[in-house]
Amino acid sequence: MMQMMGYLLVLFDPFYRLYLSSFDMVSIPAFLILGTYVAQVIVTSGVEVLVDLQASMLAKQDLIVRNAIMTKQSKTDGLTNLYNQSSFKDYYEKAFEYANSGMSMHLALIDIDDFKSINDTYGHRVGDIILEKVSLIIQETITSSDIAARYGGEEFALLMFEQSFKQAYALVERIRQKIALMGHLELGGASITVSIGLKSYNPNLSKDKLFEEVDACLYAAKRTGKNKTVTSLDLTSSFVEKI
Ligand code: GH3
Ligand code: MG
Ligand code: MG
Repeated sequence: MMQMMGYLLVLFDPFYRLYLSSFDMVSIPAFLILGTYVAQVIVTSGVEVLVDLQASMLAKQDLIVRNAIMTKQSKTDGLTNLYNQSSFKDYYEKAFEYANSGMSMHLALIDIDDFKSINDTYGHRVGDIILEKVSLIIQETITSSDIAARYGGEEFALLMFEQSFKQAYALVERIRQKIALMGHLELGGASITVSIGLKSYNPNLSKDKLFEEVDACLYAAKRTGKNKTVTSLDLTSSFVEKI
């Protein structure tokens, strides 16, 4: 348009008209109109390409976000947000390999005591709330390098790294004590307790054997009164503490 206006100004200027042949008088506006049309087509298709590009970028971003959500959902437990059993097993397997090459690692299993009677007395919904609260205490007590999972219904698994056995023991004991000291309005102010089995990586134990031994420690804690941490099947040498 601007080009056409410029041309019209030139056309009406008698000085410049002297330089234009009759072919120029037709070909120049034709060229300008064609040029403007071609430029418009280029701009329009450019805008379309940009809009398409933007749409495909948004679709890609959406896919990345949805994939990330699905990956998280497949790895975590919906009620507690902790890792689920299957992702815990993956981490455990990898962690065991690192431990084989010298990194310290401790495994704990934490099971809520008499949870069935909580469900039976207060209902399943209250049971779920208690599960969420126990998970929160575990999450807020562990360090960022530890891995906590909901391993079963009311059972949690915990992998601890970068600390000595004593520190790992102190950490699980903190979890146990915090839980035992917390009253719950949903239970009429009563508190609940957990029992814990704990053992460190040992090159003489296979991955499955270590898990079995921690489970046996947990069972020993249940059998000998609950609300305690057991770290050895020889109970005389075990750390057994009550609040
Ligand atoms: P113990 O002290 O020996 O561990 O006894 P317990 O009652 O805690 O153990 P038991 O294995 O007898 O019962 C576990 C109960 O946990 C039974 C089951 O209904 C309940 N449970 C499992 N998953 C869930 C859940 O997601 N929500 C609720 N509310 N209850 C659950
Ligand atoms: Mg239990
Ligand atoms: Mg259990």
